[in-house]
Amino acid sequence: MSIILDGKILAAQLKEDLSKEIASLKGQHHPTPRIMSIAFGQSAASQSYITSQQKTAQSVGIHYALQVLDEKLPQQEAINFIQKVNSSPDVHGIIVNKPIPASIDFYTLINAIAPGKDIEGMNLANLGALLMNKSHLWPCTPAAALALLKSCGLSLQGKHAVIIGRSEIVGKPMALLLLKEDMTVTLCHSKTVDLEDHLRGADVVVAALGKPLFVKGDWIKEGAVVIDVGINQHEGKIVGDVDFDSAKDKASYISPVPGGVGPVTAVILMKNALEAFKQSL
Ligand code: NAD
Repeated sequence: MSIILDGKILAAQLKEDLSKEIASLKGQHHPTPRIMSIAFGQSAASQSYITSQQKTAQSVGIHYALQVLDEKLPQQEAINFIQKVNSSPDVHGIIVNKPIPASIDFYTLINAIAPGKDIEGMNLANLGALLMNKSHLWPCTPAAALALLKSCGLSLQGKHAVIIGRSEIVGKPMALLLLKEDMTVTLCHSKTVDLEDHLRGADVVVAALGKPLFVKGDWIKEGAVVIDVGINQHEGKIVGDVDFDSAKDKASYISPVPGGVGPVTAVILMKNALEAFKQSL
């Protein structure tokens, strides 16, 4: 039977640490950290994420402003807007919410954000800096998965991690973060042959493939740590990429969905905002 890695508890601890640090900076007469969140039109998909960002920011003492841009705004005008925010000393972090209009290229927009304000850690400069071990702003989801993994308190050095999924936003940066922990990393993807065999040798499994309940308990080594990044709609419920019920009998620690990586991700965004603010001082 495994120990459940409760993301809500870790998120609450991280929020408390952030609140204290922000209050202490204010006590030293520094201004309030401020972030700007950009959305295109009023989409229900982005609205719940925006509300959660807003609540998390307020709870730790970060000022959160939302700018809703016209869905029909040409790409160059959206870039011009971001460049204006880049040059404002009153904004320390910028978020671009999906969905963005089909006429705008997501990465072009993300790359218009000044690297020091890219608190989602997704522009080329920050991903390159991560590769070179020099980044302060890590992509939020893999950073949250790592925080949850580290909360087990186990030594990671030399252990074998298997990541499923090689996306730019999760799998690839996750591999870099685990390499920084001196783990031996195998990055699996849709063309990997014998995925189950790779998983059976893993001390740590990070599932980020976007397939509901895909990873079965049978494929997991006894005592492995399982971090489930997946968020999938399945038979009217939100489930992860791991078949939690069978995996929990094999894993030593396992993160649930919902309530695992998700709640931590929102706080890592604020941690990045504080880091960006400190770098700006
Ligand atoms: P993606 O679709 O961009 O990438 C999926 C990856 O999985 C690809 O690299 C693909 O090669 C691999 N894959 C697909 N099918 C596979 C298979 N059968 N075997 C092995 N590999 C396979 O997805 P993403 O954006 O990286 O997201 C992955 C999951 O994480 C999704 O469920 C998404 O909703 C979730 N997610 C969660 C958070 C969070 O905060 N918890 C944030 C972002 C994404």
